[in-house]
Amino acid sequence: MEENKSKRLILVSNRLPFQLQEIDGTTQMVQSDGGLVTALKSYFEQPSAKNTFEEKLWVGSADFPEGRWKRYNSKKKNTEQFAIDPLFIESRVYNKYYNGFCNATLWPLFHYFPSYVVYDQDTFESYEKVNQQFAEHLLQIIQPHDTVWIHDYQLFLLPQLIRAKVPTARIGFFLHIPFPSYEVFRLLHRPWKEKIIRGLLGADLVGFHTHEYVQHFLKTVRMVLGYDHQYRAIAMEDRIVKADLFPLGVDYEKFHASAEAEEVKREREKITSNLSDKKIIFSVDRLDYTKGVTHRLQGFHRFLEKYPEWKEKVIFVLVVVPSRQIISKYNERRKLIEEEVGSINGKHSTLSWQPIIYRYNHLNFNELCALYQAADVALITPLRDGMNLVAKEFVASCADQQGVLILSELAGAANELSEALLVNPLDENELAEAISQALVMEPEVQRKKLAQMQNRLAGYNVVSWVNDFLHQLTDVKDRQEKERLKFITSAVRKEIVSDYKIANKRNLLLDYDGTLVNFTRLPQEAVPDKRLLSLLARLGEDPNTNLTIISGRDANVLESWFKNVPVNLVAEHGASIKRIGQGWIVEPNIDQEWKNVLRPTFEMFVTRCPGSFIEEKNHTLAWHYRNVDPELGFIRSRELLDSLFHLVRNVHLQVIDGNKVIEARVAGIDKGVAARKIVDENESDFILAIGDDKTDEDMFRSLEKQAITIKVGPGHSLAHYSVTSPNEVIALLHELTN
Ligand code: UDP
Repeated sequence: MEENKSKRLILVSNRLPFQLQEIDGTTQMVQSDGGLVTALKSYFEQPSAKNTFEEKLWVGSADFPEGRWKRYNSKKKNTEQFAIDPLFIESRVYNKYYNGFCNATLWPLFHYFPSYVVYDQDTFESYEKVNQQFAEHLLQIIQPHDTVWIHDYQLFLLPQLIRAKVPTARIGFFLHIPFPSYEVFRLLHRPWKEKIIRGLLGADLVGFHTHEYVQHFLKTVRMVLGYDHQYRAIAMEDRIVKADLFPLGVDYEKFHASAEAEEVKREREKITSNLSDKKIIFSVDRLDYTKGVTHRLQGFHRFLEKYPEWKEKVIFVLVVVPSRQIISKYNERRKLIEEEVGSINGKHSTLSWQPIIYRYNHLNFNELCALYQAADVALITPLRDGMNLVAKEFVASCADQQGVLILSELAGAANELSEALLVNPLDENELAEAISQALVMEPEVQRKKLAQMQNRLAGYNVVSWVNDFLHQLTDVKDRQEKERLKFITSAVRKEIVSDYKIANKRNLLLDYDGTLVNFTRLPQEAVPDKRLLSLLARLGEDPNTNLTIISGRDANVLESWFKNVPVNLVAEHGASIKRIGQGWIVEPNIDQEWKNVLRPTFEMFVTRCPGSFIEEKNHTLAWHYRNVDPELGFIRSRELLDSLFHLVRNVHLQVIDGNKVIEARVAGIDKGVAARKIVDENESDFILAIGDDKTDEDMFRSLEKQAITIKVGPGHSLAHYSVTSPNEVIALLHELTN
C-alpha cells in the first residue's frame, strides 16, 4: 500500500446509526439514538478532539433501500460529522446472521442463558458470510494510518479477516455485552469457539466494560488457543494484543443539564400532575429476557404483599421498549410480562388506584429524562447486562440529588455504582426489601450516595471512554512497533557477525533450554546432540572466545553433557560455577535446611496435579508443570506461588515463576550476578548474551550497557534484540564460526 498521511477513523458496527428517511418529499439523514453514536458525536464536539482525525467514516449495514441511498448520495453535500458507507446485505442472509447466530446463539449464551441457545451450523455460516462481506467492503477502503474501530458481538470474526490481508492495520474492538466465564463460553461448538477467539485476536486492542469480562476473555484465550498474557498483554507469535477494560460512560452533562430544559420540565409536569401524592418507582428496558422484568414484577408483588401500608401510596411505571420481535423468545417474554402486570393489577388495584402503569413503547429523550427526574426510585434489575446505561443516565439526571437507585449486582454498571442498593435480581424477597428501604431513605443519605456516584460518572464520561480507548490503541501499536524493531534483521545479524570477527577478546554467554534446544516433555530428554556439541566446541576452541553455558540446570547434568567442550558452566542460575579446566566452585554458606521446609508443599502439589514433578537441585527446588493440562497447571501454579510467597516471607529465598516451572532458590544468586562475575574475570571487547526465560532477564539487565543481548521467543524482554526460536540462535552461532 502507498504511504498516505490522511488519518481516518473508520467505525464499524452491525447497523449504521443513521437512517435515510423520506421527509416532505426529500431524503434526509436521521441519526438513531444509539449510545455509541451519541458518545462519538459528543467526543468529536470537544475542541481538543476536533482535529484528531481528518475524516470520520461509519461503515455498517443499511436498513434503507439501496436506491434511496444512491439518490441521496449523488446529491448530498458533505455537511455531516460522519461520512457513512452503507453495506447492503441480502435480507435472507442478514436474517439468519442477525436473528440467528447473533441473537439466538451468541446473545443468550453471553448473557448466561445456555438453555436458550440455538445451535445451527447454517446460521453460523451466514454469520461468517456477513463478516466476510464487511471485510471485503473494508479492505477496499482501508488506507495506511487509518484507525478501524469495530463494535460488538455481531462482528467477532472481522478483526482477523482484515488482519490477514493488512498485517499492519490498526484495529480496535469493543464488546458491548458481557464476556462470559470460560465454563459458559466453552458450550459453543469447538470450531465456532476457535474462529471467534482467533477473529478477536486479529485486533490490537480488545475492550470490555468490566474487569471481570477481561479476566474471562484472557482465560478463554489461554484455554482455546493457548496464548498466555502478562499484564493483560497477550503474546502472540507476531505481536502483542492488549485486552483491557473501558466502562462505557454516558454524556453526563447532557443528562444533568436536562433538568433545566423546558421540554423536559413540561414532560415531568405531565407525569407528576396525576401522581403528586404518590411515590414513583420506574424501570425502562428494551424487551429482552436478560432484563429480568418478570422477576422484577414478582419482587414488586412481594413488596405489596409484605408492606400493604404502601398500597395507594406508590406507583410502578414500567416501560418496555419493543425489540427483536421476530425472535420467538422475545414475543413469549412480552406475553409473560403482560400476564404478570395484569395479574398484579387485577389483584391489588382499587377503584382509584392501580399499582403498575405499563407502557410498551419507545420514549424520546425528553420523556426519558422527565421520567428519570420525576421518579423516587429506579428499579433496574437485569439478570445480566453488559453495562446498563439507563442506570447511569438516571444517576446523571438527578440534578436535585434526590432519588434512589436499586441496581442488579449482575449489571456491568454495578462495578461503578456501588452506592446503589445492589440486589440479586432473582431474589424476590431481596427486591421487596430494597424497594421498602429505598422508599424510606433519608433525603440526606440519597444526596450523599448520588453525589458520590455522580462524581464518578462525571469523571469518566463518554468522552473519557473514547479518549481512553483510542489512546490505548496508540500505545499498543507503539509497543508492537518497538517489539517488532527488536527482531533481528539480516543487516543487524551481519553487523553482529562482523563485530564478533574483528573483536580481540569475546565473551559468549548462552542459556541452554529454550535457547540452544527446544523444550522437551521431560528435562532429561533435552540432551545436546552431536551437531550442537561440535558447534559449541568450535566456538569454545577459539582462544579469543570465552564461552559460557549459563543455565538453571544442576551441576551434574551440565558436567556430564559438556565434559568434552571447552566451556565454562554456570549451574542453578549461578549457585555453582565451573571454569574451563577447573573444578566446581559452590556459592559458600548455602544452608540447605529450607528445602526440608518447602518440600512437603511441593509434594502436595505433585499429588494434586497429575503429570507435574519435582526437580531437586543443590540449591533449588523446582516444580515443573509442562505436562499438565494447561488450565489445571496454571491454576495450581498460581496456588503454589501464593503458598510459597507466604512460606518464604522474611527468609532469604527467592520464588521464580518460570516457563511452566515454579522454582524456589536462595536469594542473591541469579544469572545476572553470575554473568557479571564471568565477564569481569575475562576482559573483552565483545559480549553476546542469549536466553529465553525470565531468569535470563537478570543477565540481560546486568549486561545491558556492554553486551549485545538477544531474547528467544515472543514476549516483552529487556534484551536489545529478539529471535523467534532456537533454530535462529544456532544459525547465528554457525555464522560466527564460519
Ligand atoms: N432508551 C431510549 N428510549 C427508550 C428507552 C431507552 O432512548 O424508550 C435509551 C436509553 O437512554 C439508553 C439505551 O436506550 O441509552 C439503553 O441502553 P442500556 O445499556 O440500558 O440497554 P440496552 O438496550 O443497550 O441493552
